[in-house]
Amino acid sequence: MEVPADPPDACPVCDRAYDSVSAHDAGIMVNLLDNQRYQRVCFEPRPEERLWFFHHTHAQATVADAERADGPTTD
Ligand SMILES: [Zn+2]
Repeated sequence: MEVPADPPDACPVCDRAYDSVSAHDAGIMVNLLDNQRYQRVCFEPRPEERLWFFHHTHAQATVADAERADGPTTD
């Protein structure tokens, strides 16, 4: 696993804040069912043949789901 040197400010998949980002060039297993820290991971393929993983905490994912239910905010 690598940590990208120039990560974006927000997740490019769901456009929300994320806790951490990692880059992978080999298969890994992801199980968030019992994860205390993270609720969601978004995956984005990168041109350098890496897959970036954006890790969202439960709070970040809950805020995203609530905002999505109410529609986009203006801030
Ligand atoms: Zn995301």
